[in-house]
Amino acid sequence: MTTVQDFFDERLKLPSPPAIALRILKAVRQDDNSFNELAEIVMADPVLVARIMKLANSSLYGQPNRVDSLAKAATLIGTQNLKNIALSFVIIQDFQDAPQGSFDLNLFWRRAISTAVSAEILVKSVGHIDHDIFISALLQDIGVLVMFLSDAASYTEILDKKRISGKSLCETEKEQFGFDHSEISSHLLNNWNLPDSICGPIQYHHSKKPKEPYRNSAQILGFADKISAMYHGTQSNKKAIEIRQGLKENYQFEDEHIDKVIDTIGEKAREVMELFAIKPGDIKPFSQIMQEAVEELGRLNFSYEQIVLELKQAKQNAELLAVNLKQANDKLRELAFRDELTGLYNHRYYQEVMASELNRSIRYKHPLSLLLIDIDFFKNVNDTFGHIVGDRVLQEVSQTMVKLVRQSDIVARYGGEEFAIVMPETGKVGGKVIAQRVRRGIEQYQIKNNNQTISVTVSIGLVSTDMANVEITREALIAQSDKALYKAKRNGRNRVEI
Ligand code: GH3
Ligand code: MG
Ligand code: MG
Repeated sequence: MTTVQDFFDERLKLPSPPAIALRILKAVRQDDNSFNELAEIVMADPVLVARIMKLANSSLYGQPNRVDSLAKAATLIGTQNLKNIALSFVIIQDFQDAPQGSFDLNLFWRRAISTAVSAEILVKSVGHIDHDIFISALLQDIGVLVMFLSDAASYTEILDKKRISGKSLCETEKEQFGFDHSEISSHLLNNWNLPDSICGPIQYHHSKKPKEPYRNSAQILGFADKISAMYHGTQSNKKAIEIRQGLKENYQFEDEHIDKVIDTIGEKAREVMELFAIKPGDIKPFSQIMQEAVEELGRLNFSYEQIVLELKQAKQNAELLAVNLKQANDKLRELAFRDELTGLYNHRYYQEVMASELNRSIRYKHPLSLLLIDIDFFKNVNDTFGHIVGDRVLQEVSQTMVKLVRQSDIVARYGGEEFAIVMPETGKVGGKVIAQRVRRGIEQYQIKNNNQTISVTVSIGLVSTDMANVEITREALIAQSDKALYKAKRNGRNRVEI
């Protein structure tokens, strides 16, 4: 298995630390007279002194009185802090001269400085003590820079893969190299002899379970990285919400406090970037990012609810439409099969029913009976009472017939004052009973017209399918019923003939 060391040896060109950085580190490790030595090294570089003084006087350290000498700076902000500030400047300066190619070095340091300022402010707000947090945060991603400078083509490929896959940078690096930049960063800084208090938290800054004693600092570095990414990366709104949530859960911060802390980070990062000669770019106030995030979330929620509601309504509409359509179809079907005047089935339907019932009766050898009914002397009704009354007589006779037969029998208007009743599952005997019931019922029925009553009689021809001769056609059956009806008329009317 490749170790990070092998990886360094084979794949990475390990940058050497700037000479001045080494000297600063060496000086501060000898505790007794560390400040004097540090001062001596730093004083050799007037630009560095000027920058250190500026930073010591910046709002990041919030000194009430002007810091006008290195000695004063050392007393006020501590030799350790002074050393880290000096180191930070020196390292950034060194890398600023590196060839960049397609790598946005300005963005890299902008991110790094914002991370450092975030970490410095966060560490104080949570009451955790880590004098090295600024430089740890500043250098935590230096592994990215090292990987890029070693093999620009491979690292550009990683950046492209990350963009396409949507996976995290660490995941993509691990897939490609077996290591991620947090390991490279800490390994490099270890090689440079930076203390464990800096390298340890860096090693775990992307870890979900940082090792002790680096847990607290590593967690601060993680949050600092997120805040910096929010200010300078993509998906700021999403990150703003995650940061707020994370700070609440881990440090029990109130929303208002979080907004204030992060806005302070934004302001101070801008100030510090100028000192490091890095262009700050756009830094939106956190409150604005948060407001946009909440609005976006609101919009998202709203449109999601809207979509659900619209889908529901569309579904209901479709269902209603389907019901209406079915009803309309049923009605149309009914209209197509119903006789307008009497409401009975019409001739067309009668023909269809006759065909299907006859088929069924033949197939299952079940009996089928048919009544052909004609009102006697109907012409007289029309002549005596007029057509309108004649129509009413037709309607009332129709309703009477429907009441006299069974539910399963089909009553149709054959035409004019002629009707047909199809009686499935009914043989000659049953057919005769029903025919007589209809005949008698109509005979007894009285139609009221003003002060008079009108009664009519009917003649009925009955046919029943003969079990021995099931091959009869519809036409033949109807012709036979016609014959029977004619017989009933001829034999005196108001009677049934078979
Ligand atoms: P029969 O006993 O021989 O059947 O005599 P009938 O008068 O009933 O027979 P005919 O066929 O001579 O006359 C049928 C009459 O029925 C003629 C026609 O004007 C009338 N009629 C047919 N359809 C309608 C209708 O829809 N409304 C009205 N009011 N009369 C109709
Ligand atoms: Mg008639
Ligand atoms: Mg007739």
